[in-house]
Amino acid sequence: MLEKSIEDLKGIGPKMYEKLAEMGITTLEGLLNYFPNRYDHYEQKPLHELVHEEKVTIAGQVIQEPIVQFYNRKRSRLTVSIRVDGAVVKGVLFNRAFAKKHFIPGETVTVSGKWDQHRLQITIDQYQKGMIENNSPITPIYSLKGNIKNNQLIKITSQALDATLHTIEEFLPKQYIDDYRLPPRRDAIRQIHFPDNFTQLKHAKRRFIYEELLVFQLKMQLLRKKNKEETTGNAQHYDKDKVNTLIHRLPFSLTNAQLKSLKEILQDLESPYRMNRLLQGDVGSGKTAVAIVSLYASITAGKQAALMVPTEILAEQHEHSLKSILPEEIRVVRLTGSVKGKKRKEVLQNLAAGEVDVIIGTHALIQDDVHFANLGYVIIDEQHRFGVNQRNTLKEKGILADILFMTATPIPRTLSITAFGDMDVSKIDEMPKGRKPIETYWVKHNMLNRILSFIYKELKSGSQAYVVCPLIEESDKLDIQNAIDLYMQLQEVLKGKVNVGLMHGRLSNEEKEQVMAGFTSNQIQLLVSTTVVEVGVNVPNATIMMIQDADRFGLSQLHQLRGRVGRGEKKSYCILVADPKGDTGKERMRIMTETTDGFVLAEKDLELRGPGDVFGVKQSGVPEFKIADLVHDYRALETARNDAIDLVVNQRWKEKEYSKLFHYIKREFTFLDDLLN
Ligand code: ADP
Ligand code: MG
Repeated sequence: MLEKSIEDLKGIGPKMYEKLAEMGITTLEGLLNYFPNRYDHYEQKPLHELVHEEKVTIAGQVIQEPIVQFYNRKRSRLTVSIRVDGAVVKGVLFNRAFAKKHFIPGETVTVSGKWDQHRLQITIDQYQKGMIENNSPITPIYSLKGNIKNNQLIKITSQALDATLHTIEEFLPKQYIDDYRLPPRRDAIRQIHFPDNFTQLKHAKRRFIYEELLVFQLKMQLLRKKNKEETTGNAQHYDKDKVNTLIHRLPFSLTNAQLKSLKEILQDLESPYRMNRLLQGDVGSGKTAVAIVSLYASITAGKQAALMVPTEILAEQHEHSLKSILPEEIRVVRLTGSVKGKKRKEVLQNLAAGEVDVIIGTHALIQDDVHFANLGYVIIDEQHRFGVNQRNTLKEKGILADILFMTATPIPRTLSITAFGDMDVSKIDEMPKGRKPIETYWVKHNMLNRILSFIYKELKSGSQAYVVCPLIEESDKLDIQNAIDLYMQLQEVLKGKVNVGLMHGRLSNEEKEQVMAGFTSNQIQLLVSTTVVEVGVNVPNATIMMIQDADRFGLSQLHQLRGRVGRGEKKSYCILVADPKGDTGKERMRIMTETTDGFVLAEKDLELRGPGDVFGVKQSGVPEFKIADLVHDYRALETARNDAIDLVVNQRWKEKEYSKLFHYIKREFTFLDDLLN
């Protein structure tokens, strides 16, 4: 029944069908699963009970012809006087002059809109002839495409409900329905479309939020299990003595958190199953060291290892780190966009011939003609910089290597268990000893001179500084112009005293390398840059990070930028220059000065900007939910996750009570067939 096409419903002709199909609706079930995105409800209250600024509904008699004022061809204002409860209320409609004919003097109207208590005025967004009964139904409002009318959708949805309601079956296990007091699926479907009252609606929503999250978490847990059971046979028996020797040769001793993560990674390498692990650690927590040691382990097991990073600068920096830490005989090679022609050919040849042990590169690594002799292990650094697609390319290449994703963007737990729910997670939640907390100040633009003299003093004492230029949304070009202007100004002011460098995305790779080398070797003391320095750059002698128009950046990004300093022994400063206009901007600046904890910032960022923006890209792997909201439904998410883990770990799909649930999952996610049978 539910699979039946919507074609047979009354009111659906070929055109309507096409439009609904565009909205993803072709079956009765699809229609029922298309939930309203809000509800309208007319509930009249006496004037004295109305609340200022709230949406209200009132009814009364139109007193006289409405007055329409035009400002220009498009903009107009219609004013109508309505007698309500013996008082005169002014109703205002903007840009809907055509509504005039609906307000006929002497007739009764019901209007809804925002209430202004002081002026006894309502900004009307909906109106209807006559008096609406007090307990009028709650009307579902669907988000629609094209010229489908809300009323049409209501009619066909209601038909579909009548036809199918008796066939809708519960698939959530009874235990959860009881424990969480969820309404049965059949009731909930009806209530979500045509609620009897707001309490019923609330419970229906609660049910579907849980259902959506449970199904999603089950998929994640099942994927994870599948991964774990898919043996690649690449158990990497690394040389423990050699690895220990390397650890002892590091210029520092690893923190406990580093050791713990390393151990988890090494265990994965040793197991015959494919590693699918996320290594999370705040900026500066020392992920690179962990990565290098684990790369080395894989090499001692006779495998090739690859390290993929998002930028040329990082590739180069990692190449340096690797070469300085790994024993001399390890063959380290870099493959980036700037490695071309003969050189590139040589690299590819050596790689395919097994004459390379570790390769570091950017996207260049996943091009079609890159072949490995014996790839055992891949690390992807700053993974959020790569889209899901790029990450998947590795898998599609048929590479059955162990994979470690690294991220310095602290990921709020809600996001990490959704976007990365199918992965194992290691966390470096401890900073190396001796780090001094970075002092963060928020200053206004008019203090720029004082700031510059402070920076100059620091530079004179042998430190270095970054000045990061404002981010102009969507415009690389303006970013760069900003950086160039500021660079020229600072060069002028500091001429003969300090060497100023300039870094931005349009420089050629050689130029970038040169500038970075100059900064690393302290030939350049002040580096003016666009946000290309954001990820991973490591110059421990830099102690000042000044960010222009800091309110334009998201918290996570500011945190990344701030993480470029405080990497050495010296005390570091982050100076946010901003005159934020909005509250969000001010709030961001305030939070930045209050905490250096990346996780706190990420949670705040999630609250202030929503999940899509935290990673900057839509395709970050964070799924879009139909009804659940990761910020508000945090508790439900945790519950669903625990339940999903329980169900999967204990293989409940074999038990009768859970068979309907897993049947549903199987239908949704056919790739899980093998596992679930
Ligand atoms: P991340 O990649 O996590 O941002 P890095 O690996 O670049 O951090 O490490 C930041 C800095 O800290 C580097 O200069 C690194 O050499 C240093 N470092 C890493 N681990 C330790 C440690 N256990 N003790 C002292 N310094 C460390
Ligand atoms: Mg790093």
